[in-house]
Amino acid sequence: MVEAIAIDGPAGAGKSTVARLLAERLGFQYLDTGAMYRCVALAALRSGTPLNDPTALGRLAEEIRIEFQPGTPQRVFLNGEDVTDLIRTAEVSEAASVVSVHPEVRRQMVRRQRQLCEAGGVVLEGRDTTTVVCPDARLKVFLTASLEERARRRLRDLQAAGAEATFEEVLEQIRERDARDSGRSVSPLQRAEGALVVDSEGILPEEVRDRILAAWVENGGQPPPG
Ligand code: C5P
Repeated sequence: MVEAIAIDGPAGAGKSTVARLLAERLGFQYLDTGAMYRCVALAALRSGTPLNDPTALGRLAEEIRIEFQPGTPQRVFLNGEDVTDLIRTAEVSEAASVVSVHPEVRRQMVRRQRQLCEAGGVVLEGRDTTTVVCPDARLKVFLTASLEERARRRLRDLQAAGAEATFEEVLEQIRERDARDSGRSVSPLQRAEGALVVDSEGILPEEVRDRILAAWVENGGQPPPG
């Protein structure tokens, strides 16, 4: 058993917000596995590596340096460069979803992610953290919300970041990412056995956090300090 909370769910379900809140409350590290796939995607786009070349992408995934610096927001570094904002563009989101279908890429990422959560004290989130990366986590959560709600949230985030997009565009992008994340043959998004299913529709992130915290303590996890 690993002293960790693993959260999976579709794009826009609120995983990163909730994971960050949980990590802050518990004094745990926050491992954003999606940011790692985004780094591979950015590195591929920059180097002109074709997104359909598994061998070259696998090599890239093995070679790049990815580091996290705690904080709000947590900062992400690719080969020493702060790419926190650069990995959030629509182009990189799309490319991340494409490169992450390749088993060679996943193998490299999962290897690194397992190392990072081996010692426990981690909240990790993504598409396969409950099923592949850390199936022994003390608490596994499947966080979900309707497609429309997830699109509304994503649109709000994009607009806050100054990007232009319509609701229909965002809805279509999320629908496509859902299909790719759920339909791929390696590590498709799925509910792990024993995972707590939490629907975040219309609920504040703090409430979702508290619900998950209650389940964590119920499952024998160390209560938050204070
Ligand atoms: O969670 P986020 O939207 O940042 O993830 C970007 C993309 O990376 C997802 O669309 C998904 O295809 C991929 N991903 C994955 N496995 C993970 C985390 C993310 O395949 N554990």
